[in-house]
Amino acid sequence: MCAQPTDNIDKEELSRLLDRLGRMSRGLQYCHGLNPAQWDCLRFIGQANRFSRTPGALASFLGTTKGTASQTLNALEKKGYLSRVPDPDDRRVRHIELTDLGARLLDEDPLNCLDKAISNLPRETVDTMSAGLTRLCADMQSRCGGQDSGVCQTCGHLEGTTATGNMMCGLKQAELSCEDAARFCVNFLPEANTPDAEEC
Ligand code: SF4
Repeated sequence: MCAQPTDNIDKEELSRLLDRLGRMSRGLQYCHGLNPAQWDCLRFIGQANRFSRTPGALASFLGTTKGTASQTLNALEKKGYLSRVPDPDDRRVRHIELTDLGARLLDEDPLNCLDKAISNLPRETVDTMSAGLTRLCADMQSRCGGQDSGVCQTCGHLEGTTATGNMMCGLKQAELSCEDAARFCVNFLPEANTPDAEEC
């Protein structure tokens, strides 16, 4: 048997563990009549701000085509989990929203099982894993490409807080409520100098 440096064995073992966890997570997501792509889509719509709840944004976030993203959205709409709501200011624009049925289904997210397993870990283990996995994700994203996402408070497009207490997005030239500004956005611009915004 070839001798390998212990350090390399540890790194390979870590890669295998991540792969195994990923496969187990995917396997969990064939439930309630949905597949993993449909669960991804449901989570995305549940967490994204209004500018990101579109087929194009979903496609770029999931790294798929707009056509595939639209098919997934249509399937969830037919099942009654999503609906398209006209923008009150521009009737030509429709925002994709979770229905009450969709919100209740998200409460049954099969990945809650992973959350429970994580909550059984010691705090310092969670902190160390979180820091390490965040770096890994950033590294893999720079190698493989992918969509950044983040929230308004730390975005380079943020122009500050308006007189009415909303956040002003410079990219869209539009205001977001504090609730919407705390949701993630696929237009997020990381690591830029942002103007000071008051806490929502
Ligand atoms: S400020 Fe940034 S995160 Fe917020 S809506 Fe605009 S682009 Fe998205």
